[in-house]
Amino acid sequence: MTSTSIETAIAEWSTLLGESGVVAAGTESYGASTTGTNRSIPAVLRPKNQEQVAAVLKIAQRCKVAVYPVSTGNNWGYGSANPVEDDCVILDLGRLNRISNFDSEMGVVTVQPGVTQGALREFLDQHDGNYLVPVTGAGPTCSILGNALERGYGITPITDHFAAVTKIEAILPDGTLYQTPLSQLGGSEVDGLFKWGLGPYLDGLFSQGNFGVVVNMTIALAPVPETVTAFFFSTKDDAKLEALVPTVRAVLRTLGGSVVAINLLNSQRMLSMMAPFPDDKAVDGVLPAQEVARMASSHGVPAWSGVGAIYASKEVARATRRTLRRLLGPVTDRLIFINQRKVDVAKNISRLLPGKLATRVKGMADTLSGALQIMHGAPNDVALALAYWRSGTLPQAGQAKNPARDGCGLIWFAPLVPIRGKDVRRYINMVETVCPQYGINPLITLTTVNDRCFDSTVPLLFDRNNADATARANDCYRALFEAGQKEGFLPYRLNIDAMDIMNTGGSGFAGLASQLKAAVDPNSILAPGRYVPRIKHSEV
Ligand SMILES: Cc1cc2nc3c(=O)[nH]c(=O)nc-3n(C[C@H](O)[C@H](O)[C@H](O)COP(=O)(O)OP(=O)(O)OC[C@H]3O[C@@H](n4cnc5c(N)ncnc54)[C@H](O)[C@@H]3O)c2cc1C
Repeated sequence: MTSTSIETAIAEWSTLLGESGVVAAGTESYGASTTGTNRSIPAVLRPKNQEQVAAVLKIAQRCKVAVYPVSTGNNWGYGSANPVEDDCVILDLGRLNRISNFDSEMGVVTVQPGVTQGALREFLDQHDGNYLVPVTGAGPTCSILGNALERGYGITPITDHFAAVTKIEAILPDGTLYQTPLSQLGGSEVDGLFKWGLGPYLDGLFSQGNFGVVVNMTIALAPVPETVTAFFFSTKDDAKLEALVPTVRAVLRTLGGSVVAINLLNSQRMLSMMAPFPDDKAVDGVLPAQEVARMASSHGVPAWSGVGAIYASKEVARATRRTLRRLLGPVTDRLIFINQRKVDVAKNISRLLPGKLATRVKGMADTLSGALQIMHGAPNDVALALAYWRSGTLPQAGQAKNPARDGCGLIWFAPLVPIRGKDVRRYINMVETVCPQYGINPLITLTTVNDRCFDSTVPLLFDRNNADATARANDCYRALFEAGQKEGFLPYRLNIDAMDIMNTGGSGFAGLASQLKAAVDPNSILAPGRYVPRIKHSEV
């Protein structure tokens, strides 16, 4: 690709999309990334419809200029809107923001890339859609479609967001439209009700892949249950972890239909939600063990905390609470159940309390209310505060949080860990050993993605204004990856600087993926380097 070809392509795209459709990367901080990465981005394209997307790709082919599609570009901690490689033009699909179909009886909805969690909630509320939005901690401004393509997850009943996808429509790199065979045979409705379609499952190529620009996605929604009850449990005794972990598995196996996901959090992760980072106490950016213990004791934070939700009818919820007490009781010090009614009561009581106590009770009620809202499938930005713990400036009230724009330093290390006591202990030891060597505090969450496996998320938080801290955080990611590779804890998702991890030499996967890529996108104009190893044409 030459500078002339980029200039020619930009001129053609400007004619196609008009002035507002082609902007510089500096506009709205497109190039900002919480990982500290800086890509060279020649321009940002903002098409309004799928016909324009197809035309954009045809120009890209002719001029051999690569484009990198994003839906809302909020892939915080994994690269934000930045492409994997330099000199890719960002294809911002945020203006394709229609909800093109909603079947309120079946609970399936078809969304374009720009439909956010917040927009879907609003739509469902306006259309008597008694369904939960598949929310994540990333909040209301994030794309439903973009998150599912990255195989993101949350803790509402359909935790695995790509699992909920029943149908995909995409524009292939040559500008043609990909539709699934059932739809092409006239079975559009049943196609949206059934994930696997007919024949080879090609929709999967578009998730963590670079084979097309997805313009429509149909997803199944979880119905709002009669009751939603949060449960919180904890143990002060770190040694109980080995017993707690298999109990979590037992809970999911026993209560599968009503309890779908459980989070376990270590004390440092809890503290990051309860107290500002005490810079003056940190040594080389890391809180010493005695300071963590002091903070934990003053905030009443135990060694391990857990949270989950019961989605069920009243009768089932009652029985579920009993079973949870029976299973979790022996391995925890505390187990409490909270629903919206209890939170409202706490808020009312806080109004009658004096000064500081009132503020404390109200603060607690507000936090619980935020957590419950998420469990009810209504997005909020409460969890985003984590990104601002070490660096970044919170926006003014009323403005949406955006950790990339606001200067936060964050890289997610997100490996899979078997739900087995001794494996979790090995994993915790590994993270607690590696992170401090790079000035990173080990904040650990383990989220069940099924009853066999946790997905752990460790936010590597650092000061993005400090070049040395940024480099060390990136080194920390590599060190965690390498240690995890030895121990068997590998990531479910990668950031844009870690895609070379997919380069597994002459493996069957790398060979097939690269051959498919070469067949579908011979000029490599679509998201080059994204999850599919780049190999030379001569090797294909
Ligand atoms: C504090 C915090 C909490 C978070 N919590 C969660 C969480 O609970 N769960 C979770 O999953 N993530 C979480 N995240 C990570 C991330 O911010 C979200 O996953 C977010 O939804 C991804 O950004 P997006 O929705 O804007 O998708 P995008 O950035 O638009 O898309 C992600 C990637 O998918 C590809 N892509 C997007 N759209 C298309 C398309 N139409 N066609 C082809 N390819 C496309 C692109 O390569 C893009 O880079 C969190 C981040 C932070 C900072």
